[in-house]
Amino acid sequence: MSDSQVIVAGGSISGLMAAREAALAGLSVAVLEEDSEIGTPEHCGGLVSMAGLRDLGLIPDLVQNGQIKKARILSPNSGFEVGAEKQKVVAVDRRALDKQVAFQAQKAGAEIRTKCSVRSVSDNVVKTSDGDLTFDYFVDARGVSSIINRDRNGVLQSAQYEVYADWIERDTIEVAFDSQKYPGFFAWIIPISAQKGKVGVAGRAINAASALKSYMDSKGRHSIIRKVYAPIWVNGPLKSFVQGRTVIVGDAAGQTKPTTAGGIYSCGIGGLLAGRAIAKAQKSRDDRLLLEYDRNWFAIFGSEFDRMLLARKLLERMDSKTMDDVFAAVSKEDLESESGEFDFHSAAISKILKKSAPRLVKAMLGNELRRLFESQDKI
Ligand SMILES: Cc1cc2nc3c(=O)[nH]c(=O)nc-3n(C[C@H](O)[C@H](O)[C@H](O)COP(=O)(O)OP(=O)(O)OC[C@H]3O[C@@H](n4cnc5c(N)ncnc54)[C@H](O)[C@@H]3O)c2cc1C
Repeated sequence: MSDSQVIVAGGSISGLMAAREAALAGLSVAVLEEDSEIGTPEHCGGLVSMAGLRDLGLIPDLVQNGQIKKARILSPNSGFEVGAEKQKVVAVDRRALDKQVAFQAQKAGAEIRTKCSVRSVSDNVVKTSDGDLTFDYFVDARGVSSIINRDRNGVLQSAQYEVYADWIERDTIEVAFDSQKYPGFFAWIIPISAQKGKVGVAGRAINAASALKSYMDSKGRHSIIRKVYAPIWVNGPLKSFVQGRTVIVGDAAGQTKPTTAGGIYSCGIGGLLAGRAIAKAQKSRDDRLLLEYDRNWFAIFGSEFDRMLLARKLLERMDSKTMDDVFAAVSKEDLESESGEFDFHSAAISKILKKSAPRLVKAMLGNELRRLFESQDKI
């Protein structure tokens, strides 16, 4: 008999959701978390929709701020503001959110062990810093540290600081694109209350700390209360999340949005579906049922993530001038007619890109031709 029917490596949102669901179905579950406290160190902006929290079965009493009312989207020399009230987006205390799921999982019967690191996994034995444990099903919820071994190219470095500054507006998110300063991503401000917020940058092959310093210096006086550096994953999901009796969830499975690297919702749902599929497979003694997890996750997020990956490819090819042109083409009427959901925002992105498609094609062709001529000149 195994030590636990299910062993979950990683005690964050996706692993804890998987643990909660498997335990609710009556399986014995152990969650192994290498850090000394669930939810710590917190590296997340905490931005999530109320609909997302509801789907995850979480109580939104962790909202740090009121609802986000506006998003300001900037390119180097242009930009627009869009109302965000319809999307019902909030910034939650992520540390408390993870602890809420941990409590739910514990109440359902799971055991959570902190300061217990998974070192290796083989067949049905996991070697940990606390000794060996046997299992029937293994859930890999170890975050980006797990998926990075498959594809380094999908990882961007980020820096995110907790900041006090009078330029942080209580109900406004800011997203600033600049292909030179933050190639492939952007700088952001997420308010957590009046004059307090999380300010971050990520980008391909950048020094995130110095890019963030320049961004904040350009805004004005501020104090940094906490600094966090963490990788983010932007290359989309693995083709399958199931390998034998190992089930991969969350960031470890690439379930973060390729556009914004937001993952509370899509990773949390990944964990929830995985836990339910494991319970079904175990009770029916039919491991083919694990694949229901794959099917269900892709049915919800598959085409949305495909479109986000396309938008990402376009973003990576745009120079700052093209971004200015695209942003300048966005009209207030377009934005007001857009009721896109926060968790499924590819339709809104498509609309913006479609509106400026002729300029986009012209600018991109111009860039491609310039690159071609430059490379010919070097021959
Ligand atoms: C700077 C930044 C800002 C973000 N902001 C947002 C946001 O505003 N909204 C949003 O929705 N998403 C945001 N995200 C993404 C979100 O944080 C992740 O998608 C989400 O946390 C993924 O959850 P997870 O459980 O899959 O993995 P993680 O949260 O990464 O957790 C992995 C867990 O596994 C543990 N672990 C790792 N290795 C081992 C091991 N060997 N043994 C045991 N335990 C191990 C880790 O300690 C960790 O607790 C942000 C990410 C970053 C980096």
